[in-house]
Order: sequence, then structure tokens, then C-alpha cells
Amino acid sequence: MHGLMMEAPLLIKNIAQHAETQHFGREIVSITLDEGHHKYTVGECLRRARRVSNSLKSLKVSETATIGTLAWNDYRHLELYYGVSCSGKVLHTINPRLFEEQLIYIINHAEDEVLFFDPAFASLIERIAPECAMVKMYVELTGTSSPSQIKVDNLLTYEALLSDNSDEYNWPDLHENTASSLCYTSGTTGNPKGVLYSHRSTVLHSYAVSLPDSASLSALDSILAVVPMFHVNAWGYPYAGLMVGAKLVFPGPKLGDPETLVNLINNEGVTIAGGVPTVWTGLLNYLRESGRSLGKMDRTIIGGSAAPLSMIEEFRDNHNVRVLHGWGMTEMSPIGVINQPIEATQNLRGDELRKQLVKQGRPIPGIEVKIVDDDGRSLPWDGSAYGALKTRGPWVCSSYYKFDVAGGSTHSEDGWFDTGDVATIDRQGYVKITDRTKDVIKSGGEWISSIDLENIAMSHPEINECAVIGMYHPKWEERPLLVVVSANPNEELKISVLRWFEGKVAKWWIPEDLVFVSELPFTATGKVSKLSLRKNMDDYKFPGT
Ligand code: AMP
Repeated sequence: MHGLMMEAPLLIKNIAQHAETQHFGREIVSITLDEGHHKYTVGECLRRARRVSNSLKSLKVSETATIGTLAWNDYRHLELYYGVSCSGKVLHTINPRLFEEQLIYIINHAEDEVLFFDPAFASLIERIAPECAMVKMYVELTGTSSPSQIKVDNLLTYEALLSDNSDEYNWPDLHENTASSLCYTSGTTGNPKGVLYSHRSTVLHSYAVSLPDSASLSALDSILAVVPMFHVNAWGYPYAGLMVGAKLVFPGPKLGDPETLVNLINNEGVTIAGGVPTVWTGLLNYLRESGRSLGKMDRTIIGGSAAPLSMIEEFRDNHNVRVLHGWGMTEMSPIGVINQPIEATQNLRGDELRKQLVKQGRPIPGIEVKIVDDDGRSLPWDGSAYGALKTRGPWVCSSYYKFDVAGGSTHSEDGWFDTGDVATIDRQGYVKITDRTKDVIKSGGEWISSIDLENIAMSHPEINECAVIGMYHPKWEERPLLVVVSANPNEELKISVLRWFEGKVAKWWIPEDLVFVSELPFTATGKVSKLSLRKNMDDYKFPGT
């Protein structure tokens, strides 16, 4: 029997319409290259988003065109989020930190018809444009009347384009499974793979992320989106934020500048911020040196890679900010699990609490998880059995976009998506990521968690940045090597750090050796690239081997 409820598709335009009627006066604040500090309201944003829809029509793009952006987080990018997707087109957000060959590959693979870009990327556009034959029009995201002096045909400025087009547009009633946005994820091998989100997956993800035991977003929040809008839709803030009526704060090109972030946090009453650990390492260093505070900020979502315990404790003890440790992936829109307390965990103290804080959290409603052994058998949720982490749910990718391997399906026969992560799950359902499958260290057949070792090293008072990788060892097959960034490398520090592990882990887990480096290699999304690090260390041999 069918239920007798109205059929209302889950569409991004409904988020926009709700925001327009309920939160029209809510502020959106951005740092941009051409204007510095920009402020306007949700109502103005969505009116301009309709101009974007009309502009695309005037450019005669196809009905379901893919529209690329190479842009930082700001209000114009937000207008594109709504103006492109609500008119039935697909917003393809591109990570400008990728290598040029990868950029060319994904722009062509996605068949982008228009490319909107920040002035900061003008010379990049000039270099790659000759290779991007399908792009009919380039639009520079600036208010100045003439675009940058680059040798690119069909070049316009955003404000000129918008001013020529009306702000009246009836966004269509699309099917809820219509594609809304596209984001490429770069694996370690092969070409980047496209994850194609739908209106339905985006709306459901927005509801789930806003729940009290997820990010707990409300109309009283002021959200600082440090995570780039080209990295999995800035973890969904542009949608969830508008849905709940939070103030949105965008750092533009200054997302890596701690002073700007702290100014925004204080001046814009920021209550919650989201970003990868690398950003927060810089911010905490700046706070220590400047003695400044974080105003009204009371929580931050940290994910993308493991948040070190020392970071979680420093936010809590020095700034009264609760870290909501989260885990997800581009393939999961991205949020999968968030660490929030429940009755059984809220009163933990001492070591028990510390162990609890480094877990990534419990699945947000809609997401299912399981861990399996090498034969695909489910493992117990006892907090110690570890296995391949699998997941499924309405905002988990089922196939990569136009993937060249047969079908491009991402899930195995049992309908679950293999995340490529290794994890434990405890009795209460808290997931703890121990490694990427490819980063697991096996010493004498036994497994060692690099994330656990990094956490311990980071709690050493003189360590700010480090990584643990498995390196070949003639007797044990592999042993952990601790790589530490230090401006003042010396033997004393090395001995002190290696001793730091004693009593904190089993003896055979203690890194076999420590090497100092001046910097670690990072991926385009700001994570330590262990693949590059292993390559850099190719010639390394453990002492005495
Ligand atoms: P991306 O698709 O670039 O967002 O990367 C997703 C991958 O980042 C996951 O599969 C994990 O390996 C890693 N990751 C994300 N969040 C965390 C976290 N909190 N702790 C450890 N690894 C994480």
C-alpha cells in the first residue's frame, strides 16, 4: 500500500526557496581578491544565483551542461553553487592545486562548457585553455569591467555577464536524482575519478549533517568554511548552512592565513569552523604566538585526515572549543561519521577519554558501516578487531562518472562501498580509522597503526608535524619509520622522541628509527602524501641493516 503523503522531490532549489523566505536577511561574508571584505544577504545571493541561471541560458550552454569552477570560497562561488545546479546543470568544482595535466584531464573528461575562474588563476587558464577544446566560454570572477590580459578567446567578466541578465528565473521541477555537482578525487594511481552528486543526495546529506549529534547546525550559528568549496562541496556547508539559516563566512584566497581566519572568527561571531588538520596546526601556532583568542567559536569539525589528540586537547583546554572529529570521503558527499558523546561515553576521564577522542565517531543517520576481513566476512564491533571499512547509504557514490573500467561501479557485489580505509568499530559503534589500506604497516606479519604512532609523536612537546611510514626491513619485512619536521634537528631530540613511546605502546610498535626533514609532501587536498614520502625515502635503510 502506498502512503498518502505528497510527492515532493528533494531538490537544492527547495533549500534555496526555504532560505529565501525564512532567512533572507542572514549575512554572507567573504574575503575576495577584488573587493577585500564583502557582505550581503541570503536574499541578494539567491537573486544573483538566478542571474547566473539566466547567464548560462544566454551563453547557450546545453540543458544539462557541466560548468567548471576554479575558485576559492566566496559569495560568487556560492551563487554558482545555486545558479548552476538549480537550473538543471552540473557544477564541477575543480581543485586548482592539481597538476596541470590533471586539470586538463578532468576538464575534458567532465566536458565542461563554461569555466568560471578566480583572477588568481588567470595565467593558469591561459596555459591550459589550448588543451580544453570543449570549453566555449571563460568567465573571470571579478567585478572589474575588463578581464585579465590573457590570451584566451571568449573571455568575459562575471559582473558584466550578470548585469546583462535578469534575476527572474523559475528554477525547474527536476527529478530528485538529477545530477547537481561533480567532484574529482585523485587516487594514488590512474586518473582522477569523478563523483557525481544528485539533488537528492545533497539535500539528504544537508539534513543529516545539521542534526544535533552531527555538526548541530542552527540559525544561531556563524559558519566559517575553511575547507575549500572545491573539496567535496566544502563538506556540505554551502547547502546545510543556507538550509538552517546560519551566517556563512568565506575566507576566499586567505584560507591558509591564520591571522585572517582569527580576524574573521572574532569579527563575524564565528561559532563553528571546518577544515583539515593542516589548517588548524597553523592556526594553533599563530594563537600561541599572538596570545589571541577564538571569540565565540565553540566547536570545529576536523576531518580529511586524522586529528591528532594534542590538537583536540589544545582546542579544548586553551580555547574552550570542542573538536568534532569526523571522517568521510569525496565518495560520501563527504560526511560518514562524527565523534559526538553519547550517554555511555560522556563521563569518560583520563586515558579512557583520550582513547575516545581520537576515534572518528559514529555514523550519522543514513550511513551504515561494517568492517570485514580478507574473505569479506564481517568482523565484530569490539574496538580491537580491524578490517576493511565498508559503507553504504543514500549519499554514497554507486559509480564513478564515465569511468573507463567496465561499468565504473564502486561497490562490490554485496552493495557496499569499499572505502580503502582500515578501521576498528567499538561496541557503541564508534569507528576508529587506523590506516589507509595501502599505508598499513606489517611488522613480522603483525599490524601496526601509523595513525596511533603519529598521535603519540604529536603529543611530544617539541613535535608539530610528523608522519609514520612502513619501510622495508630484512628481518621483519616492514618496520615503522617516524619522519619528523624540525627546524632544529639533533640527536638529543631524536632520543627523547623515541623514548616518548615507551610505556605508551607495545615495545615492537615503537618506531625503528626517526629521521628529520625540513618539510613533508602534501597532496592537493592538504593531506600528507605518504606515497611521495615513501618515494623520497627510497634510499633509506634502517641502521644496522
Ligand atoms: P577525500 O576523498 O580526499 O576526502 O579523502 C578521503 C580519505 O581521507 C578517507 O578515505 C580517509 O583515508 C581519509 N580521512 C578522512 N577523514 C579522516 C579522519 N578523520 N581520520 C583519518 N583519515 C581520514
